[in-house]
Amino acid sequence: MERSSWIDDELDLLQEQVARFLAREFVPLAERWSLQGFVDRSAWLKAGENGLLCASIPAAYGGGDGNWGHEAIIAQEVARAGLNGGFGVGNMVSSGIVAHYILAYGSEEQKQRWLPAMARGECIGAVAMTEPSAGSDLKSIKTTARKTGQHYVVNGAKTFVSNGQQADLVIVAAKTDPATGRKGISLLVLEASGAGGFHRGRALEKIGLHAQDTSELFFDDVHIPKGNLLGPEEGRGFHQLTEQLAWERLSIALICTAEMERAVEITTAYASERSLFGGKLFDLQNTQFKLAECKTLAAVARSFVDGAMVAQLNGRLAADRAAMAKWWASDALGRVVDECLQLHGGYGYMSEYPIARMWADARVSRIYGGSNETMKSIIAKAMQAGPSGRS
Ligand SMILES: Cc1cc2nc3c(=O)[nH]c(=O)nc-3n(C[C@H](O)[C@H](O)[C@H](O)COP(=O)(O)OP(=O)(O)OC[C@H]3O[C@@H](n4cnc5c(N)ncnc54)[C@H](O)[C@@H]3O)c2cc1C
Repeated sequence: MERSSWIDDELDLLQEQVARFLAREFVPLAERWSLQGFVDRSAWLKAGENGLLCASIPAAYGGGDGNWGHEAIIAQEVARAGLNGGFGVGNMVSSGIVAHYILAYGSEEQKQRWLPAMARGECIGAVAMTEPSAGSDLKSIKTTARKTGQHYVVNGAKTFVSNGQQADLVIVAAKTDPATGRKGISLLVLEASGAGGFHRGRALEKIGLHAQDTSELFFDDVHIPKGNLLGPEEGRGFHQLTEQLAWERLSIALICTAEMERAVEITTAYASERSLFGGKLFDLQNTQFKLAECKTLAAVARSFVDGAMVAQLNGRLAADRAAMAKWWASDALGRVVDECLQLHGGYGYMSEYPIARMWADARVSRIYGGSNETMKSIIAKAMQAGPSGRS
C-alpha cells in the first residue's frame, strides 16, 4: 500500500514500534478485556510508559510532544491490531479529546495538574455531554451547574459515557445559565475520586466494543470547585465542543479506513485458503468482484481522509470536511464489513472470527461522534452559508 502523504520517516518508525508493542503487550490480553468489559488499569500505565498516551500534547505538560500525525498513527495501529473496541476508543477519548480540551481551554495551573498524569496513564479522561433526553440536540441538555461560594453545584444525569466506569477526570457539559440554549453551556472538570454525590451507573451492555466501558453517570449536588471551569469564562462550552469536534470526526474516519483495510486483508486471506467446489473461494468471480469493491471503497476513503489529515496538520480542517470524512468512511465501513462477513459464510457469524467482531464494532461509528445525519446537516449548513462557509 502506498504511504500516505502526511506520513514521514519518523511516523513510519512510530508505526512499526506501536505495532510491535501492541502485538506483544495488548493483543494477548484483548480477549480477557472483552469478557470483563474494560481495559486493565495496568495497560493504561504501560501505554503511558511507551508513549501511546497524549502523543500530541507538548512535552512541557508531560506529553509526547508530537502532533496530530502521531495521534493518528497510534489510533490506526490500534485499529489494525483489533483493539479499537477497547483501548482504541478509550484512548481516542482520553488523549485525543479530553487532553486537548484541557490544552486548549485550561489555565496553566489546570494543564500542569492534569495533563502529565494523563500522559502517564494514571489519570483516564471522559467526556460527558450526552443525556438520556439530549444527544444530537446538545443545546437541550438539562444538567445544571449552579454557582455557590467557591463551587458549582452540579445536578443531572449523563449516558453513553466512554471510559465512564474508570474515568478519573470527567469533562461535564452543564448549563450554568439554564434559561438559555447553547450560550448557557459550560464545561467543568470533575475530579471523580471522592466526589460526593457523584455516582457511576451501569456499565452498559452493547452489541460491540466489548472491551470499552460505556456508562451512565449521575450527579446529585456534586460540588465542583470554580477553578475547574474550562474557561476562561462561563457559557463557552458549546463553542469549545464544536471547535474540537472536527478532530474527533476525522479520527473516527481514520479508524474506519484502517478497519476497512484490515477487513479486506483478513477476507482476502480467508478466501484464498477456503476450499470449495474443487477450488478456492477467491477463484469465484463473485468473491473477486465483492473484494474489488471493498478494496475500492477503502482506497477512496484513504484518499479523502489523507487529504483531510493534511488540512488538520495545517490547522485548516473545516467542520464540513471533517463531517464528510466521518459519515462517508463510517458508511463505507458498514458496507465493507458486511460484505466481508458474508464471504466468511457461517464462520463470519462466530465471535471467534475477527470479522464478526469488526462487524459488530463498526455499527457505532455511524452513531457516535455525532450521528451521520448530524454530519449531513453540518455539510448542508455550510452549503447554505455559501462559498465562505465551505471547506
Ligand atoms: C458506544 C457509544 C459511545 C459513546 N460515547 C460518548 C461519550 O464518550 N460521551 C458522550 O457525551 N456521548 C457519547 N455517546 C453518545 C453519542 O454521541 C450519541 O449517541 C449521538 O450523538 C446520538 O445521540 P442520541 O443517541 O441521543 O440519538 P438522538 O439524538 O435521539 O437521535 C436519534 C436519531 O435521530 C437522528 N437525528 C438527529 N438529529 C437529526 C437531524 N437534525 N435530522 C435528521 N435526523 C436526525 C439521529 O441521527 C438518529 O438516527 C456514545 C454513544 C455510543 C453508542
